[in-house]
Amino acid sequence: MDYEVVIIGAGPAGIFTALTLADEGIGRVLLVEQGKDLADRRRGQAGDVLCGWGGAGAFSDGKLTLSPEVGGFLGEFLEGDALLELLREADGIYVAHGAPERVFGTASAKLEELADRARLADLELIPTRIRHIGTEHCREVLGHLRQSLEGRVETRTGARVEKILVEEGLAAGVLLSDGARIASRFVVASPGRSGANWMKGEAERLGLQMRATPVDIGVRVELPAVVLKEITDEIYESKLVHYSSTFDDKVRTFCMNPYGEVVREQYSGITTVNGHSYAERRSENTNFAILVSSAFTEPFDDPIGYGLYVARLANLLGRGPIVQRLGDLLAGRRSTPSRIKKCLTRPTLEGATPGDLSFVFPYRHLRSIIEMLEALEKMAPGVYSRHTLLYGVEVKFYSNRIEVSREMETDIGNLFAVGDGAGITRGLLQASASGMVAARAIVERLGA
Ligand SMILES: Cc1cc2nc3c(=O)[nH]c(=O)nc-3n(C[C@H](O)[C@H](O)[C@H](O)COP(=O)(O)OP(=O)(O)OC[C@H]3O[C@@H](n4cnc5c(N)ncnc54)[C@H](O)[C@@H]3O)c2cc1C
Repeated sequence: MDYEVVIIGAGPAGIFTALTLADEGIGRVLLVEQGKDLADRRRGQAGDVLCGWGGAGAFSDGKLTLSPEVGGFLGEFLEGDALLELLREADGIYVAHGAPERVFGTASAKLEELADRARLADLELIPTRIRHIGTEHCREVLGHLRQSLEGRVETRTGARVEKILVEEGLAAGVLLSDGARIASRFVVASPGRSGANWMKGEAERLGLQMRATPVDIGVRVELPAVVLKEITDEIYESKLVHYSSTFDDKVRTFCMNPYGEVVREQYSGITTVNGHSYAERRSENTNFAILVSSAFTEPFDDPIGYGLYVARLANLLGRGPIVQRLGDLLAGRRSTPSRIKKCLTRPTLEGATPGDLSFVFPYRHLRSIIEMLEALEKMAPGVYSRHTLLYGVEVKFYSNRIEVSREMETDIGNLFAVGDGAGITRGLLQASASGMVAARAIVERLGA
């Protein structure tokens, strides 16, 4: 054996796997990352946004969701208290490495009042407790985690795993794209969303059981921060769910960024939108996504392909993301540069093409997005203003879900799959926690 454990991908899931193994005294652990090392990553470089030491978390907004209902499916593997405890531990590690003390969204009379107002508007407010690291501090926190691993876990960046090696039904190591074979007793795959297609291919090749997950398609909404101030001051990120009256589809708000910025995201050769916010630098706007969940039944089983198709259409028409005033969309006309100039919401994303999102979205999605905006208007007047900006498209390509045990072990012995790439999580804290679960199982087997 070259190593006891090889970990594929240095995102939060891989980092927390490595950290837990190191803290438990396991030596000979290798963390393999296809992207650059943390210090060499640049936010402006497309390839660096999702890949590199720190994973997609490096330039993320750094909202650690402490409520177990949000950010992944670990609740299906761990009972309530055990999951809460695990999330608390993972959160504690972030705090010990520099995350701020403040937590938003703790129970209060104001929160109750907001939940009631949501109910009256045909919305459900999912209470979420959040610790906000902020984009500029994420890198610092990751830097401290990187230092913690120094000398205890070997890291190789710029090294892509091509294949997971299996011998006699057990994980046996990995094959790198430069042809190097690395033998190990355990393999933990944590390739994130950027590695989801690779993971799917490996799962098919190795005969691992998988199931397709829904694809979430929608827009990034941007409006003056004052419109949502009352809500964001109290809970920072409001997760609101609505069932559209025309299609009865689940529509939800996602990733709310008070005083934040809208950004581009590259995925599989297409450009989509996302948002983030700094802890200290403030824009005048708040942005959030409105996402419509679509699940397909047979014979179609490629939700990721469907989402890519819609996103590609926006790129075809806009040569990148499209921005449109809500007023223009409702009036059945495209936005133009001069109409955007007259818009009272000043766009934070430069270079998006003023256009017409009705050429991009299927009727079902567009209708559901508009109905969600109407419902939000009842809770927070100003959301349905003609000056609200919509950027398209935002797509959440959740990875196919790999079937794993409670220890995160796949059908192949000693091969573990964790984090977003295995479709088990959808956020920083649960991804980190899933890595801890796998690492603890390995520690137990190694008898350390
Ligand atoms: C702009 C943005 C903002 C976000 N904001 C938040 C937020 O505020 N709160 C929150 O909870 N979540 C947020 N997220 C999501 C969060 O970043 C992810 O849920 C989290 O990073 C998942 O962790 P992971 O370790 O599973 O995967 P990732 O962080 O994606 O890391 C996987 C790593 O594996 C590497 N890899 C993939 N395949 C291979 C291979 N074959 N060989 C070697 N290496 C490989 C990749 O390069 C990558 O670095 C955000 C994401 C983005 C993009």
